[in-house]
Amino acid sequence: MKLRQIISIAALTGALLWGGVSSQSLLEWNVILISWDGAQRAHLEELREHGVLPNLEALAAAGAALPMEIRGHATDTKAGHAEMLSGYGPQVTGIFSNRYYQAIPEGLTIFERLKARFGQQSSTVAIAGKRSNIIEILENALAEIDLALIRSAHAALNGPVMLRALRSLKDRAFFAFFHFSDPDHAGHTYGENSQEYSEAITLCDLWLGRIVATLQELGIFDKTLIYVTTDHGFDEGRKTHSNAPEIWLVTNDPAVASPEEGIALQGDIVPTILERLGFELGALEPSLPGRSLLKKAVGASRP
Ligand SMILES: [Zn+2]
Repeated sequence: MKLRQIISIAALTGALLWGGVSSQSLLEWNVILISWDGAQRAHLEELREHGVLPNLEALAAAGAALPMEIRGHATDTKAGHAEMLSGYGPQVTGIFSNRYYQAIPEGLTIFERLKARFGQQSSTVAIAGKRSNIIEILENALAEIDLALIRSAHAALNGPVMLRALRSLKDRAFFAFFHFSDPDHAGHTYGENSQEYSEAITLCDLWLGRIVATLQELGIFDKTLIYVTTDHGFDEGRKTHSNAPEIWLVTNDPAVASPEEGIALQGDIVPTILERLGFELGALEPSLPGRSLLKKAVGASRP
């Protein structure tokens, strides 16, 4: 594949700046937010117990693995990713479900918040394996994403582009959103209890390992926080996710912990990341409904 095809949707100016910019940045951390689309929590836990998700396990060992829940919107792709990428529910985003939605209002995504605050000192990337569902909610944010590749594609096609994107980012501070559609497709086709569904999740783990290996090779793993989550769960034993609010978060962020009260919610992901990136949460408009999960006292040590 040629690079020209890859950046078909990219904001070209941002992409063209890569490489020539100094590594000076106000961002202390790089952040990669990874979505394993439709990976059911119970199924994931089963696979973890069987020891077939070694790369996810390594993240959890360095940081945390916690159960999460979805509240207040459909358990589907658009509503889940809207909350995962903006921190707001449908009252603010207008995204209730795959069918009842609009684009996330301008300025509310992590991409836009980073660019508004850090400008060209930060790079933003979105590589996703579903086209319409993701593009339709990110339409207003695309101008603030330096490299966007949003297309219907499996991990085998998008994974290598993710690694290439990381190599091009080497000396830049960045926020990247990497989305894998494989578990959702396998669940819809073969069912939640199928071997194919398990294999799709282990494939995501394989690519997580390649992402980590690339970061290590580039010498930036120790300043990159990785948060792996899902947009929604899956109905037990079925080919649907009509009522699947049980999700999860696994991260190498040593400061993340389950909240002292109640279960963590999908809306807690964005406040956690924004606080990590130096935002004062109380100053954000409109105010974020979620809470930061940065609880543990962590010194200067890095994962
Ligand atoms: Zn689905």
